[in-house]
Amino acid sequence: MAGAESLNQFIKAEALRLGFSLAGVSLPQAPAHFDGFPRWLRAGRHAGMGYLESARSLDRRADPRRILPAARAVVSLGMPYPVPDPAEPRPGRGRVAAYAWGADYHEIIPARLAELVLALEGYLGRTVAGRGYTDTGPLLERDFAQRAGLGWIGKNTCLIHPRMGSYFLLAELLLDVEAAPDAPIESDFCGSCARCIAACPTGCILPDRTIDAGRCISYLTIENKGAIPPELRPQMGSWVFGCDICQTACPWNVRFARGAADPALAPRESVPDPLLTEDLHLDAGAFNQKFKGSPIQRPRRRGYLRNVAVAMGNLAGPELVPDLARVVFEEPEPLVRGHAAWALGRIGSARARQALSGALKSEPDGSVVQEIQAALAG
Ligand code: SF4
Ligand code: SF4
Repeated sequence: MAGAESLNQFIKAEALRLGFSLAGVSLPQAPAHFDGFPRWLRAGRHAGMGYLESARSLDRRADPRRILPAARAVVSLGMPYPVPDPAEPRPGRGRVAAYAWGADYHEIIPARLAELVLALEGYLGRTVAGRGYTDTGPLLERDFAQRAGLGWIGKNTCLIHPRMGSYFLLAELLLDVEAAPDAPIESDFCGSCARCIAACPTGCILPDRTIDAGRCISYLTIENKGAIPPELRPQMGSWVFGCDICQTACPWNVRFARGAADPALAPRESVPDPLLTEDLHLDAGAFNQKFKGSPIQRPRRRGYLRNVAVAMGNLAGPELVPDLARVVFEEPEPLVRGHAAWALGRIGSARARQALSGALKSEPDGSVVQEIQAALAG
């Protein structure tokens, strides 16, 4: 029978072999910050993510043993993704959060977690009960990562490793094995720093170290299925999927983040900085082809093109009018037409207003009519 300490070492060595740069073990006890979670929900900071409120999800989040009663250890893992460049993108280009430049981690990490369980079974000579998650499960994953010594939870709510920064995807494995726990990171190395709070363009990082999701560009461009609130659109800059600003502002990333990304997460061509006028015209087939196996499938074509239209409105170049006008007249999705109308309003040139007036005469959808009217009134 392997000792708890050697089992801990075996898990870490296997995790490293499988592409996880960070690995640590904690005990499956109630997460330290659970009380803040229902408070965050009651304040409505989860925006449209109503699934977080379900009694089952809350119950399981409160204690991981409700997910796997046999659990004896929680393994927390971190897989590095590319380090984003804080510089402005090239003219006419959008920005995509760095974790989404390559393949969808939901398609990569579960197989590696399964491999880790298999390796453990070989090592222990018995069947191992395990349950793996990567951001989709009912676990306060950063709590467990902190407890397993992977880092501390920064004011921007990211898990920050003191020598590697925060550009990691987190994953967890609940296991019925007796592995020795690692020492937690108890210190708050943020200190008096508030750079992420100052840098956040929508002011959604709250003093209690939570995020007002309904204002966060990550939520607005990915989880949000409907219209983006008009008052937030100008603050979104050229982000078309996610946002890295509060991480690129963090001195721990500026100083330490150098790690090589996992090859599966390496950037695909034209994904990190998409040409906006090109992506605005992706039809369903072209969208699916370009983003096959990419996290950018998540908001679907209509959500992604909505984001592209907003980014174009923020660039506000008069040369963008023909592309946006074509969308206002021809695009089948009202959500995209409406945001393209907003973008034309932001540009505000005579040609943009002419296109809006023309579209108003034939627009069949009430929500788009409202967008056009607001764009003309602005
Ligand atoms: S991801 Fe962007 S919008 Fe969201 S908290 Fe960070 S800086 Fe703010
Ligand atoms: S920017 Fe400063 S306050 Fe924000 S997470 Fe990094 S160290 Fe903490």
